[in-house]
Amino acid sequence: MELARRIRQIPPSATLALNAKANQLKAQGVDIVNFGVGEPDFETPDNIREAGIKAIREGHTRYTPVGGTPELKEAIIRRFQEDYGLAYKPGEILVSCGGKHGLYNLFQVLFEAGDEVIIPAPFWVSYPPMVMLADATPVVVPTRQENGFKLTALELRQSLTPKTKALVLNSPSNPTGMVYTRKELEALGEVVLEKGLYVVSDDIYDKILFDGEKFVNIAMLSPELKARTFILNGVSKTYAMTGWRIGYLAGPQEGIAAATNLQSQSTSNPTSISQKAAAEALSGPQEAVAAMVKEFAWRRDDILRRSLEIPGVTCPKPGGAFYLFPNFSAYYDRLKPGAGQSPSQALADYLLTEARLAAVPGNEFGEDNCLRFSYATSRERIATGLTRIKEALEKLGK
Ligand code: PMP
Ligand code: GLU
Repeated sequence: MELARRIRQIPPSATLALNAKANQLKAQGVDIVNFGVGEPDFETPDNIREAGIKAIREGHTRYTPVGGTPELKEAIIRRFQEDYGLAYKPGEILVSCGGKHGLYNLFQVLFEAGDEVIIPAPFWVSYPPMVMLADATPVVVPTRQENGFKLTALELRQSLTPKTKALVLNSPSNPTGMVYTRKELEALGEVVLEKGLYVVSDDIYDKILFDGEKFVNIAMLSPELKARTFILNGVSKTYAMTGWRIGYLAGPQEGIAAATNLQSQSTSNPTSISQKAAAEALSGPQEAVAAMVKEFAWRRDDILRRSLEIPGVTCPKPGGAFYLFPNFSAYYDRLKPGAGQSPSQALADYLLTEARLAAVPGNEFGEDNCLRFSYATSRERIATGLTRIKEALEKLGK
């Protein structure tokens, strides 16, 4: 079939593809440890599920306003104000069918052919394809492990061209779990203002933060930066609501109105029932979030310790999210990559067969030295997984 060029250049989401593969093996009876997908292993808290059930019972089963119900927008606005001191009006918020959809809408209305969008690597797998789907050019800028995989102002400056339109930031990061400090963001913010860039701040992991760290994004630094920033957030990660598909954008009214227009011609409103549940998530009790974060923090310590016990492995300590991005390059000379395979792909394949362990190869995130482990799985699975990795690597010999 002669498919459009637009889609021919886009690979399927590597994280979702690996998850499908791991689930397939599981269905065949293979005892697989799945460090693949980034999806909380907790149930959606009861009060939120009840809100969804109540929404159906009370007949909230019709179209809502395209950009989200006034109730949900109000809940979102309250969170931004109370948590971060950021003031938004309803016209500066768009609720979409998941965070991914919010980003897609935004990229479609912000970017076009000839635009360059800076994406620091390691990056979440969907950013470059989404930029390409908007006919724009992703400019992947490598960062250094020594700098905690964070983009410096100098690296940003060196990657600018007259075509640069925007910078994508994601903190806490998928896949590294690293968190930008206020100072680091201030340095980037200076370049942003000097060059008149837009910023896409993907804050989807803002609440999954360890060691008492306080969340900060670039919009919080000054009204000038806020006026150039679009924030992406959603309920998938914080409230273990991946299947409900609610994400939201906050930003300058003109961009949000355009993205709402696009949504009106594509999906219309996100599910009415999920919007009710999301409003409860954002305005109801938050104890369940604290409990999940506490558990993630325990697992972070455990998986980091176990990974660093493997000879040759290095890894910066993540401050948030639920990912570890250890560097396995010490083993790469012992692998036999298949045709067209990068070393991280060869290692991920080897671990899948030899250790029955699914992890996403780093090359999918633009950093081939590493693998991504999602520790959104039980303590027992983490221990089993790391034992298996250690044994499989020992078998590779010296
Ligand atoms: N941004 C990042 C960095 C993510 O890891 C995810 C998880 N898929 C998303 C956005 C979007 O999540 P969702 O579409 O489930 O809201
Ligand atoms: N964001 C998660 C991950 O990176 C979920 C899968 C996806 O949407 O890519 O694994």
